[in-house]
Amino acid sequence: MSWIIILLSCIYISICILYAWFEGRKKATGFIGSLLILLVLPFIGYWIIELLSNRKAKGCAWCGNKYNEAVYCGMCGKNDNGDIRPGFKSKDDL
Ligand SMILES: [Zn+2]
Repeated sequence: MSWIIILLSCIYISICILYAWFEGRKKATGFIGSLLILLVLPFIGYWIIELLSNRKAKGCAWCGNKYNEAVYCGMCGKNDNGDIRPGFKSKDDL
C-alpha cells in the first residue's frame, strides 16, 4: 500500500511546484511562499493564497497599474515607497 501514498505524494508535490511556479509567482506570496503554503496546508492552501493575494491587490500608486498584487509593481517595478525592485528592467530600457 505504501507505494500508492508515495506515488500520490510525488504527484501532489509536482502539482504544487507547477502551481507555485506559474501562479504563485504572480501572487503576493511569491513562488517559495506559495509552495510552502501548499505543502503545509494541502487543498486549503490554494484558498489561503487567493485570499492573501486579493487583500494585497492594491494596485500601484506610481503608474496606475490597478492589477498589481505583488510588493513590487509588475509594470514599473516600484513598491509602496517608490523603491525600484533590484534587477528590474523597465520596458523603456529594452
Ligand atoms: Zn507601477
